[in-house]
Amino acid sequence: GLSKSLGLIEGFGGWGAGGLAASLSPGEVSEAKYLRDKYGYNAYLSNTISLDRTIPDYRPGSCRNVSHLRDLPQMALVFIFVNEALSVILRSVHSAVNHTPAHLLKEIILVDDHSDDEQLKGPLEDYVKRRYPGLVKIVRNHKREGLIRARIEGWKAASAEVTGFFDAHVEFTPFWAEPVLARIKEDRRRIILPSIDNIKHDTFEVERYENSGHGYSWELWCMYINPPKQWWDDGDVTAPIRSPAMIGCSFVANRLFFGELGLLDPGMDVYGGENIELGIRVWMCGGSMEVLPCSRVAHIARVKKPYNSNIAFYMRRNALRVAEVWMDHFKSNVYLAWNIPMENHGIDFGDISERVALRKSLQCKNFQWYLDNVYPEMRTYGNTLYYGEMRNSKASHLCLDQGMRENHTATLHPCHGWGPQIGRYTKEGHLYLGPLGSTGEDTRCVADDPATQFPQLLDCDKDKDEHRTKWIFTQGDSMINSASGRCLEVVPAKVYLGHQVVLQSCSGQRWTIKNTMKDIAVYV
Ligand code: UDP
Ligand code: MN
Repeated sequence: GLSKSLGLIEGFGGWGAGGLAASLSPGEVSEAKYLRDKYGYNAYLSNTISLDRTIPDYRPGSCRNVSHLRDLPQMALVFIFVNEALSVILRSVHSAVNHTPAHLLKEIILVDDHSDDEQLKGPLEDYVKRRYPGLVKIVRNHKREGLIRARIEGWKAASAEVTGFFDAHVEFTPFWAEPVLARIKEDRRRIILPSIDNIKHDTFEVERYENSGHGYSWELWCMYINPPKQWWDDGDVTAPIRSPAMIGCSFVANRLFFGELGLLDPGMDVYGGENIELGIRVWMCGGSMEVLPCSRVAHIARVKKPYNSNIAFYMRRNALRVAEVWMDHFKSNVYLAWNIPMENHGIDFGDISERVALRKSLQCKNFQWYLDNVYPEMRTYGNTLYYGEMRNSKASHLCLDQGMRENHTATLHPCHGWGPQIGRYTKEGHLYLGPLGSTGEDTRCVADDPATQFPQLLDCDKDKDEHRTKWIFTQGDSMINSASGRCLEVVPAKVYLGHQVVLQSCSGQRWTIKNTMKDIAVYV
């Protein structure tokens, strides 16, 4: 009906194109655009969709044969929000009530992280009081605390045996709660993640995501990862999937256990990193984290945040807290991924002493154990000598850059120091260029192919002629290929920057790679 056509015609790519919906007046179109830009999803469409809709049941078929205990612990559901569309928050609440057995749902807590929207004050409060008397409690932060402390505030207000934490733009499906509670009842030290499906931000259709664990890169951006080999070998798609960390928009824990474990790190600001930190902490300190394929919650992956948009700034700061508290000497990987020096970096990540003390008092295992047992897919970069953007003294405003990936050729670009410009020179003499692979494809390395004067980017591990990918280099000196004796140099050229990078006989040009790894490689 209307909802569907609105969504399709007004998909975020196609605004204004090809004759907008006949059913919308120009005023309505501009209203819809305004709401889209404000919330990062099609809130105009959301306002037309039933708060009580039921989304598709995307559980693996065999989940329907699993029987559920009736005697399960009760839950508090905590939703946090800042400037979220009212209809989206209410649909989260309706969906929770409609799809959680009433005897298991003790309370719903809405944490308003200091929104400015008027509709989230009186109107929201009146609505939930009238519709769900006694069930819903609203907690208001008096200033913006960020999602981490907002979740902690929700936890403080909860009294049920189990607490679930959700973004306020989710929808639940039948039987999402029972398997979660059963796993926690069996072992209170398990943190349980419902599988996440995607509510499309433009059409609000729900799309199924594959069975996966939740992992992360060394910047600590979260991502879906393939379930462990053991899970596939066991051949039971209803079985829990071991997860090194969590995406974070949906997780459930025993309330007291979560408290004993140290909640989330209250020293983190705004957004990011807390989801990785909790995963690392629960594993290292005696618990576990897992995704349940038979429990499904759908979440809107929005295109824009309705709050502080410099997410990376906070992410980086929070990531350094995780690195410093939990990662032992592996913390160098986080500094490397963000291209920041390990000392005198000028980033104020706050006081971590309480978190360090927590790690001690919980008698947690070390990060090496965690990598070996919980996140073996993660690559480590302990062989790094120098890292960061690479400049040549002949044109120091330009940096070596991986260019268009499909060209497999290193090039020059104005310096920005982000992923494609991250160079990494190793103890073995390899020179890598590009963002860290973390769990994915490895970063490619610079090679001298005698057939061309341009430096090639290859997979170092697969390249047969080892020497072409080996370089003789120390900080501030020439970059000499050990097979050919040619040097990586910069020459004037008629290309758009006036320079290009080539391999030629050495003329004594010097390179610097921004950071020298501090020697913390204490392999204990
Ligand atoms: N959030 C918050 N305070 C903030 C930033 C975010 O309460 O300062 C809430 C936000 O409303 C949402 C959750 O944190 O419920 C996660 O944020 P978001 O959904 O924007 O992140 P995403 O899921 O897109 O990664
Ligand atoms: Mn979200």
